[in-house]
Amino acid sequence: MMFDFSDLPVVDCHAHPFMPSREKKVYGRRYILSSDRFMKVPEEDVRNTLAYRMILIELARLLHLDPTSSDEEIIKTRNELAAKDYKAYVEMLFHDANIVSYLNETGFPIQGARLRADESAAFESATENIDVREIIRCEMTCNHIVADADHRLSFPEFMDLYRSNIASRIKNGNVIALKTVIGYFSGLEILDPDEGEAASSFDEHYYASEKNLPMSRIRAAQKPFRDYMVHECVRLCDEFGIPLQIHTGAGDPPSCDLRLMHPGLLYEFLNREDTGRIRIALLHGGYPFAEEMCFMVNGYANVVTDVSSMTADDSIAVERVFPVLLEKVPLTKIMYGSDGAGDVDPIWFAAVNFKKVMARVFSNLVDRDVITHAYGEKAARMILSENAKRFYGL
Ligand SMILES: [Zn+2]
Repeated sequence: MMFDFSDLPVVDCHAHPFMPSREKKVYGRRYILSSDRFMKVPEEDVRNTLAYRMILIELARLLHLDPTSSDEEIIKTRNELAAKDYKAYVEMLFHDANIVSYLNETGFPIQGARLRADESAAFESATENIDVREIIRCEMTCNHIVADADHRLSFPEFMDLYRSNIASRIKNGNVIALKTVIGYFSGLEILDPDEGEAASSFDEHYYASEKNLPMSRIRAAQKPFRDYMVHECVRLCDEFGIPLQIHTGAGDPPSCDLRLMHPGLLYEFLNREDTGRIRIALLHGGYPFAEEMCFMVNGYANVVTDVSSMTADDSIAVERVFPVLLEKVPLTKIMYGSDGAGDVDPIWFAAVNFKKVMARVFSNLVDRDVITHAYGEKAARMILSENAKRFYGL
């Protein structure tokens, strides 16, 4: 092997909180997206994804176990270690992968119960010695403002609360970006509704009496409000000089409708003067639409992408998809991320495995006279940490 990037420092530019109470009860269950709501996913399927096979091999190495140990033995050793001292376990993983900064999108989970105070505290204590920065999720902030209000909010009242909530968190905390997951709810074709349309859509979304509407009706009713809020994010990003992250590509079902997740749907949104003035990260390499992503990033000076999600969850995909992104994306505009959440192990695994993948990919590029060895060394540092430091102002 021509390169070894295992010691290089890593900025994880998009991930979420993790804590023991949000770990999947069955190890590796996160690698299967299906819920159990209509038919239970067999454990046999969980044990037979490549993502599961890969992380167990890496765990055996980390825990000094024989790689031929049984799945149960590796998981048991891991669980005992994490239960004994969770913080020490987290620090061992971050040290092994040399993750130096963690850009934490706090809007987790997208579905299910909101994090309790003790769960947030568990995350904070486990990461006490790690450089953690916050990314604020627009949609979760909206939901919390409405849920926490002691009366029915008018739209102007809501907007005042929203702006002051975000502004005070930026001023008082370590917020480095805003984020939207609008694709999950009404798709990435973000239009430009006026305030009146947004106000009635807001009422319909949060206070409608009829709840059992078909999904298509719900999405259509929410859309003007959701689109309006993303434009509000653009205004706030401009005001505070921070970037906007936009989820693109695959996500958790049943909310995620892949037909609405193509990066190319952002055409009208990106072709505006106001969006063109702020820095925008289209997340997850757009996977499974990476070729489309190449042209969105290459075509707009203010747009970058990352490899998060596929690194943690999609087994060998990153080995195939990362080179696709390299076909057209300047290497200054692609960064490493994991998109891990709940379970800490995939956050560590994603970084360790991506370093090996990048070493193989770059070795191949050197063999083909695409890059020199010296450029490969430099580009690895850019992608693992330096691009993120510059883009997010760390
Ligand atoms: Zn995420």
